Amino acid sequence: MPQRLFVVSNRLPIVLEKRGGGWTLKPGSGGLVSAIAPVLSHRGGLWVGWPGLPLERGGDWERVLEEGYRERGYDLVPVLLTEQEVKGFYEGFSNAILWPLFHDMLGRCHFEPPFWYTYLDVNEKFAEAVAGQRREGDFVWVQDYQLIHVAEFLRRRDESVRVGFFLHIPFPPLDILLKLPWRGQILKALLAYDLIGFQTPRDSRNFLTCLQNLVPEVEMEDGGAVTEVRLGARTVRVGAFPIGIDFRAYEETARSDDVNRRVGELRRKIGPIHLILGVDRLDYTKGLVERLEAFRNALKRHPGLRERVVLLQIVVPSREGVAEYQSLKAHIERLVGEINGEYSTAGWVPVQYQYRSQPRRDLVALYRLARICFVASIKDGMNLVAKEFCACQVDDSGILVLSEFAGAAAQLQRGALLVNPHDIEGMADALKAAFDMSDDERRRRMAGMREILREQDIFWWVDYYLQAALGTVPDDFRVPKEYLPALDLDELLDTG
Ligand code: UDP
Repeated sequence: MPQRLFVVSNRLPIVLEKRGGGWTLKPGSGGLVSAIAPVLSHRGGLWVGWPGLPLERGGDWERVLEEGYRERGYDLVPVLLTEQEVKGFYEGFSNAILWPLFHDMLGRCHFEPPFWYTYLDVNEKFAEAVAGQRREGDFVWVQDYQLIHVAEFLRRRDESVRVGFFLHIPFPPLDILLKLPWRGQILKALLAYDLIGFQTPRDSRNFLTCLQNLVPEVEMEDGGAVTEVRLGARTVRVGAFPIGIDFRAYEETARSDDVNRRVGELRRKIGPIHLILGVDRLDYTKGLVERLEAFRNALKRHPGLRERVVLLQIVVPSREGVAEYQSLKAHIERLVGEINGEYSTAGWVPVQYQYRSQPRRDLVALYRLARICFVASIKDGMNLVAKEFCACQVDDSGILVLSEFAGAAAQLQRGALLVNPHDIEGMADALKAAFDMSDDERRRRMAGMREILREQDIFWWVDYYLQAALGTVPDDFRVPKEYLPALDLDELLDTG
């Protein structure tokens, strides 16, 4: 009998909606759900999470949730949150403290003590929901920064629990983590896990450096893919497991008749213009302002691009209630207006901007149509848009201009044109270089990236994480390498 798997994430992988008098239940979208669901069906187990709505026990929704998933072989366990808990735990500690801090944006943190207490209470609620169902031998897999303390609360009940964690966002360097008033508690809570997975070697290194410096008593043994950390009686294993996408599903959609038709329609509309595509949630970590400034700079310094390229920036609404996000939106919209005011000519508008989410088919069609995908994150755990764009380049023809500070840079370094999102002129020059790139070079780069992404897809990721958690890391595990730009020695030594 395989060990049962418990997945614990902030949101349940479903969309529950009130329609007319009753409830409807739809499966959630996204790679994580489609990769974990078959493992859950095979091993049995359950998914613990918040349904995303203010609900009360005893409602009709409970029956809908229970019946909806029975045939899939695993259960959904809802954790109900009050409005005040959502504010303190989700909007507060998770998204106004950990999110900006872990993305190196100290100035955006609101270190309010009540957020911390609510975060702990809600993490304990999640742990209780797990403990109520757990049997000996089950493996609990906790997802992401909203739930760091779940293992600690579980261990208080039962020291023998087997529990792993995966952080989908970056882990900050020592100097940044030190600013967090609850830095000691967060590190201690992480040490309650048996396996901690990070997106990249950079994040894993940051975590290990924090531990080495702040807890000098820890012993560490580098085992290649996984480092063993020992502190007293506890052993914690730490590694980098870059999350993948459902590569084949994207590729298949990109080749479908439906998408082919759509690409044809769009191509006829835009003519010979080269499309530069940006797709992001509205977030200050995504470098939206820097990207627009870089595009403006490219039009200014490389006039040959004028009337030859269009930047289509899709911004998916996110955290709309938060004032910071509203002012970011206003800033972006002002810049779009300015650039179009400065450079538009009869029949050519350089920036097209859409503030709405796209149906999957349209997004895939845009990925296929785009000559350049432009990802300029200031810092990003992985950036799945970069990977999805590559998966949709079924004729190997597109170019990825990618921020060095997106997790994807570690895997794709040889294929993408890597840029520093703070370097406006550098990004503008990268756009020009992408525009001028020969067909051969484009194809060679894209084919190399696609090979990696096809192999290291979302199913590979789940498999490797669980193998590392439940057994040993297989010999053929390719230890990811950290991306660091090599500086030119001649330039460094040149004093003239
Ligand atoms: N996406 C979406 N609707 C859209 C545009 C994008 O659901 O209209 C998806 C996109 O396919 C990708 C995700 O949003 O899977 C964005 O993931 P990423 O890692 O790039 O950034 P995150 O938003 O998680 O920080």
